[in-house]
Amino acid sequence: MDLGIRGKKGLVCAASKGLGRGCAEALAEAGVDLVINARGSEVLEDTARQLSGRYGVNVTPIAADITTSSGRAAVLEALEGQADILVTNAGGPPPGNWTDWNRDDFIRAIDSNMLSAIALMQALVPGMMERGWGRVVNITSQSVKSPVSILGLSNTARAGLTGFVAGMSRQVAGSGVVVNNLLPGIHATDRAYALDKGVAQAEGIEITAARRKREATIPTHSYGLPEDFGATCAFLCSQHARFIIGQNILLDGGASNSTM
Ligand code: NAP
Repeated sequence: MDLGIRGKKGLVCAASKGLGRGCAEALAEAGVDLVINARGSEVLEDTARQLSGRYGVNVTPIAADITTSSGRAAVLEALEGQADILVTNAGGPPPGNWTDWNRDDFIRAIDSNMLSAIALMQALVPGMMERGWGRVVNITSQSVKSPVSILGLSNTARAGLTGFVAGMSRQVAGSGVVVNNLLPGIHATDRAYALDKGVAQAEGIEITAARRKREATIPTHSYGLPEDFGATCAFLCSQHARFIIGQNILLDGGASNSTM
């Protein structure tokens, strides 16, 4: 299927590895010129080289912490203040127990997983509206629909972003801007391995046993792949997604047990 976005310009945040990289790869394959971001420059630059070499698009790597205002200023400067496609993403907050976290922990999580995405939308969506076309995908989590108890900071911050998008997406849809959230369940990335390790330590079992235990909770009996996730993201950024507004699309192998 031709996604109809060849020659568009996009920003994919937190994209040197994992789900962000999956999204960047699928957009590059669809012919989108990209600015990609992560904090560490080495893997990021390598990713940029691989994507531009493989797909013949321009990929500009900007090493910066996207949860800081200076980091966002650096990526916005590389975009000359404008993009047709925005994929927001950042690392997830650490696990813990609900009694563990203080105000600073909550502010850090809200800054990372709610306010940085909102700030990027506020910076880039007005230009999309003026030009009459835009696509935004926010990478959130299955925890928005089905809470993961040990990820209380994530549950909290992402619920805030979800509420913001629910209203804002309907305000901008009339100007040709499509905003949606993608909700990953467990995908085979460094983040998932770190959580496997946490389970292994907590339960005194091997990491492979912890992974098998977590895989058994998913109807597919396997983790999702960044490639699957990226392809869905690229579709939501395509011409064909114009009627999908303010949705929370779950990619979890059926793990969240609900009828709708
Ligand atoms: P990952 O494999 O650990 O990759 C994270 C990527 O983000 C790396 O490229 C990392 O590079 C970059 N990054 C992290 N913090 C950043 C920051 N502050 N500024 C800029 N770049 C940053 O993680 P993932 O599995 O792709 O997860 C992506 C998001 O989805 C996270 O918020 C995670 O909580 C959420 N999620 C993941 C899963 C899953 O199973 N994988 C499930 C539910 C939700 P640097 O370290 O070099 O910055």
